[in-house]
Amino acid sequence: MILISQPFIGDEEKNAVLEVLSSGIVAQGPKVQEFEDRFAGYIGTEHAVATNSGTAALHTALLACGISMGDEVITTPFSFIASANSVLYCGAKPIFADIDPKTFNIDPEEVKEKIGNNTKALLIVHLFGQPCEMDAIMEICQDHKLVLIEDACQAHGAEYDMNEVGGFGRCAAFSFYPTKNMTTGEGGMITTNDKIIAGKARLLREHGSKTRYHHDALGYNYRMTDIAAAIGIEQLKKLEGMNERRIENAKDLTKGIKKIKGLASPYISPMVKHVFHQYTIRVNEEYGITRGELVKKLSEKGIGSSVYYPLPIPSQELYKTLGYESRFPKAEQASKEVLSLPVHPKVSEREIELILSALTGN
Ligand SMILES: *Cc1c(COP(=O)(O)O)cnc(C)c1O
Repeated sequence: MILISQPFIGDEEKNAVLEVLSSGIVAQGPKVQEFEDRFAGYIGTEHAVATNSGTAALHTALLACGISMGDEVITTPFSFIASANSVLYCGAKPIFADIDPKTFNIDPEEVKEKIGNNTKALLIVHLFGQPCEMDAIMEICQDHKLVLIEDACQAHGAEYDMNEVGGFGRCAAFSFYPTKNMTTGEGGMITTNDKIIAGKARLLREHGSKTRYHHDALGYNYRMTDIAAAIGIEQLKKLEGMNERRIENAKDLTKGIKKIKGLASPYISPMVKHVFHQYTIRVNEEYGITRGELVKKLSEKGIGSSVYYPLPIPSQELYKTLGYESRFPKAEQASKEVLSLPVHPKVSEREIELILSALTGN
């Protein structure tokens, strides 16, 4: 079976974990500090604060930026639900702006139309490993004095105009879930150039406590363990190589898919380094069989595939009960057409050929 995703773990990670287990310090300790320093160094931000998930990183990032009850936060309808849910956790209101159908990312023109008196922040998602249109996004945030927060949970190592994502906004959130470009099992990271934001994030991660058993604010237990951090340190060393494998696999897939009628290969903006967290195509009517039939056919041939995402966030049951309506035609159309194919670093050249011949029906 060619899996849709698979972590890339070697002896380095295994040995690093054993070393931590032998050290006696297994919860947050020196390895977390080392991972934070290395990650900040890699992204090029002043600070990085590790958490126990990407969702925790997002929640902490929004709280540290002061998002609270009554604030509106503009975000994309086409993402994993954690993006918008982190706004709800703060008691704030997600306002959705439809996507650019080419990139699947939030459309800056749509964002402009959603800005109102209560708009406090813009939460962008660099979906599938492709950075958003940062020039337009930064200009909007400057013109309207909006706080920019990046959900970079799918974009470790992605670049816009030669700059790493995770350093554009007031802060950013990364995830190290096993399907992502690098993993710690579960885990997350906040990156920021703002010392005050970093300090707030550290406080929130630690039950609002700077000094043990003295609590200054309502915080959480969002700490990463040294076990996870030890894995992260080794994964970070491999990130560039793993991303290169993804990019190569994507190139090979696109070469074949370009020749197939009814399938659209992913668009890559000329401004970006796309790190292909997912390789996502569109299946149109011209293809002959439906997307559902294609998924079944691939599965019969031992090829995993997955629909990210079958429902836009405002169409999810949770959001319908909150009074949201499905009014995002471009996100809805994407939900009906997208299909992600295996692109991760463990997929071999031979397997790419198998995927392509399954798609052409040979
Ligand atoms: C994975 C992901 C998250 C959440 O990360 P977890 O580590 O699973 O909590 C948030 N946003 C996006 C876009 C993601 O892909």
